[in-house]
Amino acid sequence: MSSSTKLIKNCPNDSTFDLPPLSLDADGIAHDFKHYYVHTFGRDRQCLSAHYPYQALATTVRDRLMERWKTTRQAYDESGCRRAYYLSLEFLMGRALSNATFNLDLDEAVARGLRTLGLELEEIASTEPDPGLGNGGLGRLAACFLDSCATLQLPVRGYGLRYEYGMFRQVIENGAQVEEPDHWLREGHPWEIERPEFTQRIQFGGRTETHRDQNGRIVVRWVDTHDVLAIPYDVPVPGYRNDTVNTLRLWKAAATDEFDLDEFNAGSYTESVAQKNAAEHITMVLYPNDASENGKELRLRQQYFLASASLKDVLRDWIRLHGHDFSRFAELNCFQLNDTHPAVSVAELMRQLLDEHHLEWNEAWDITRRTLAYTNHTLLPEALERWPVRLFRQLLPRILEIIFEINARFLDEVALRWPGDIDRLRRMSLIEEGHDPQVRMAYLAIVGSFSVNGVAALHSRLLVEGLFRDFYELWPEKFNNKTNGVTPRRWLAMCNPGLRDLLNETIGTGWTRHLEQLSRLAHYAEDSALRARWHAIKQANKARLAEQIHDLCGVDFPLEAMFDVQVKRIHEYKRQLLNVLHVIHLYNRIKHGDTADWTPRCILIGGKAAPGYFMAKLIIKLINYVARVVNKDPATSGLLRMAFVPDYRVSLMEVIAPGTDLSEQISTAGKEASGTGNMKFMMNGAVTIGTLDGANIEIRDQVGEDNFFLFGLTAEGVESLRGHYDPNVIIANDPALREVMNLLESGYFNQFEGGLFDPIIHSIRNPHDPWMTAADFRSYIEAQERAALAYRDRERWVRMSILNTAHSGYFSSDRTIADYNRDIWRLQPVAPRPVA
Ligand SMILES: *Cc1c(COP(=O)(O)O)cnc(C)c1O
Repeated sequence: MSSSTKLIKNCPNDSTFDLPPLSLDADGIAHDFKHYYVHTFGRDRQCLSAHYPYQALATTVRDRLMERWKTTRQAYDESGCRRAYYLSLEFLMGRALSNATFNLDLDEAVARGLRTLGLELEEIASTEPDPGLGNGGLGRLAACFLDSCATLQLPVRGYGLRYEYGMFRQVIENGAQVEEPDHWLREGHPWEIERPEFTQRIQFGGRTETHRDQNGRIVVRWVDTHDVLAIPYDVPVPGYRNDTVNTLRLWKAAATDEFDLDEFNAGSYTESVAQKNAAEHITMVLYPNDASENGKELRLRQQYFLASASLKDVLRDWIRLHGHDFSRFAELNCFQLNDTHPAVSVAELMRQLLDEHHLEWNEAWDITRRTLAYTNHTLLPEALERWPVRLFRQLLPRILEIIFEINARFLDEVALRWPGDIDRLRRMSLIEEGHDPQVRMAYLAIVGSFSVNGVAALHSRLLVEGLFRDFYELWPEKFNNKTNGVTPRRWLAMCNPGLRDLLNETIGTGWTRHLEQLSRLAHYAEDSALRARWHAIKQANKARLAEQIHDLCGVDFPLEAMFDVQVKRIHEYKRQLLNVLHVIHLYNRIKHGDTADWTPRCILIGGKAAPGYFMAKLIIKLINYVARVVNKDPATSGLLRMAFVPDYRVSLMEVIAPGTDLSEQISTAGKEASGTGNMKFMMNGAVTIGTLDGANIEIRDQVGEDNFFLFGLTAEGVESLRGHYDPNVIIANDPALREVMNLLESGYFNQFEGGLFDPIIHSIRNPHDPWMTAADFRSYIEAQERAALAYRDRERWVRMSILNTAHSGYFSSDRTIADYNRDIWRLQPVAPRPVA
């Protein structure tokens, strides 16, 4: 037993925990900062690294969280309340220091305290690396949800993985994406507390054995396994100025201290020790694929590792408090599965209840189906997870047996409902038959859950009409919608201090908790004095963004131009390509002298491509190659600029959203489940140009059609066009698109690399282009012209901008979480005893 898990006879007595509250004023903070800087981190006058001021300040602020963390845990324990757990392979938390100081209302005290020491809070906060434990929207949603749960004082714990390497850092070299490893833990992570006392043991491999116990019951044992330890690291999640601090528990994989005895005895000491490495690989790296799965064994290991460790953690706590009586377990616990990534939880919860806690099948199944809830995040069939049965058999043999048993009982239920409907049985089976049979994880999640939700109204409707139609016919009551939201603390109050102050002055301060109060702003759209201030704030935010663009891309964005922004993962369905075609069209107009009544524009595009996604990487190249030609042509001066911002991430978005005029949300209708970037832009007063896709539809409903630039086919239009879509006819009949294609095909943007963009050209001209880029070109160009015209009328544009913020209240993740809670979790808020 290592020293960290060894128990001692004498526990620290109560007076150990009887501490006076820590000071929240500037002097107290400066005092603690000095203590950590000098005594704990041992720094002296030669301050060379920005790292230690950050460490000292983070530790000072963390102490204040620690007090509230303890009282929150006590309040939950004492109330015996029902709890929910958010299981997610990704949590894209963003920087913690500025969030903690803001949510604790310590900004002023910290800034003043630091100033007495000759330091600047903003400068120190900006040195914090982004913990990038997520790919994009799905991981960021998990982070917004945790913020809202803590703010609403709901007993919700996040469970995830503590990847050693987060999302890769993106560098652009000669226009191409290059991935660099993100070893974010190298400098230490002051926001986590290791909790080795809650370590769990996770099984892999081996085989199963069946025998009967003394009561004649069949008992299955999973033996000869290769076990891995799961060590939890807890990260505090502060609520907004309410003394609640919830927990995000991240698991790290570690080897057991056992050796492979055969190897060991054969004298292979070093080989035996080296084997331990394999165990630690499980949480080594985040898979950088957004919206696509690639069937790698290590990924399935990660999924099971998270599911098993988290469920064991909750069950151990249950047994500590209730013994082996599980009769109230489902009443008091609920697990929300963030997509199918943790869907193996369905079988794993069954396994733990059956094999480890000796419940009968029916009782275990009843508990499972009453505690699990599943959120779907995609409409792309290729992104629906499937795992080969043979991989399960080899890696998780006991889990596979349970999945087969669940499937057999489920198919009996289907057969009873639709006698003789063999085709339906085949369609609905958890196992897809074929030469390499697959486990359908989404179906496993649906069968094992009491709730299945989509993340925007259109998405939820398309799910029950399409992908999950058979299941909807069987269990209509399970299906529901929960339109996504984002936290207004990080995405408005923190990232846009100028607008925050104006809002506080104009409509009071209640909006940070009750974002619907932003609607009070609507009638100020007619107040010209307010409009002038609104405009000045936007221009200041654009100046801050332009400075970043200058530093990162070497491109100058003039502030009087419209800032037209598309930042998100690079994917064909998101259609960055359509954006580029518009830029080429504008460039072509400039070259033809068609610039009367021109609206100057700066187009910013950013986002990472999955390292193995060829087309996405080629699109990044095209963006950079077009940008280079446009920016260096003297004809575009004052009219058009374009830049690709490298390494798009949370902290960059905190600068981009406040400085954006026009938000590009131009996915092929029916493909973007919800989008959340669209909501961050709207809150910060950007106007959207977008398709009727995902939450864009609800954004337009809220803000009104006059304040949204709509274009493109509907989801139904896209589907009914399939089969007779003819992009070549569209190109031939549209002079503007024809000229754009001519420029592309002439190699104008790739002078010395002939054929470089042929795959892109072919995809646009392909009648089977799933994203129908050419179909929406004309409509997009016209919407862009309406946007340009609107921008030239400053008063009109500012009015639209104000109304976008005013009607963004619905997109607070507080509203989303209140909906989850009302319909799925049914938790009571629990307030901790205030500290001091
Ligand atoms: C909000 C956010 C996303 C999601 O953007 P979408 O436009 O909804 O795809 C992705 N990455 C980061 C860093 C974000 O902050």
